[in-house]
Amino acid sequence: MQEYRANANKIKVRLCDKHEDQPYNVGCRDCLSLCCVNCLSGLKNCTSTGVSHQLCSLEELSSELKQDIDALTSKLGNKEGEWASLSKAASMLLSDFISETERFVHCLHKTKDEQIKELTSRYENLEAEFVKQRQAIQAKISQFIEADVNEDCSNFFIERSRIAAKLRQNHQVCTFVNAL
Ligand SMILES: [Zn+2]
Ligand SMILES: [Zn+2]
Repeated sequence: MQEYRANANKIKVRLCDKHEDQPYNVGCRDCLSLCCVNCLSGLKNCTSTGVSHQLCSLEELSSELKQDIDALTSKLGNKEGEWASLSKAASMLLSDFISETERFVHCLHKTKDEQIKELTSRYENLEAEFVKQRQAIQAKISQFIEADVNEDCSNFFIERSRIAAKLRQNHQVCTFVNAL
């Protein structure tokens, strides 16, 4: 852009490189090469298009170039505006994304805490249930042992008194026999 501006300014003052006493007075719209009056007779084809140069006066060329420069400048300005709004939108998207992911992480933590809490309470319930059942089984076992042992004991006492009675009887028989 600055190069174009510099060239546009130079056009007015530069003398021809080949014919040093002649100022440039025409230029090609396509390749932007400049010519003096003496150059015109030996002109080759345009380096941009490969056909004849599109020659016009330096004033014309200069004003066309200025228009091009203005158009390019305003286009660039628009692009800069577009770029600025794009980058603003991108940074907004990024900040949305960050807050969204933070919310998600927070949610995961909360879920994790809730799950741990739920599991813990389930285990506590299971443990309480287990203790209750163990107590019930213990009670049954001790009831069974007590009843069984009591029965055995009473059977034992009955047996013992029966044996004692028999012994007494035998003793009486012996005493009677001896007395004969
Ligand atoms: Zn010349
Ligand atoms: Zn040309």
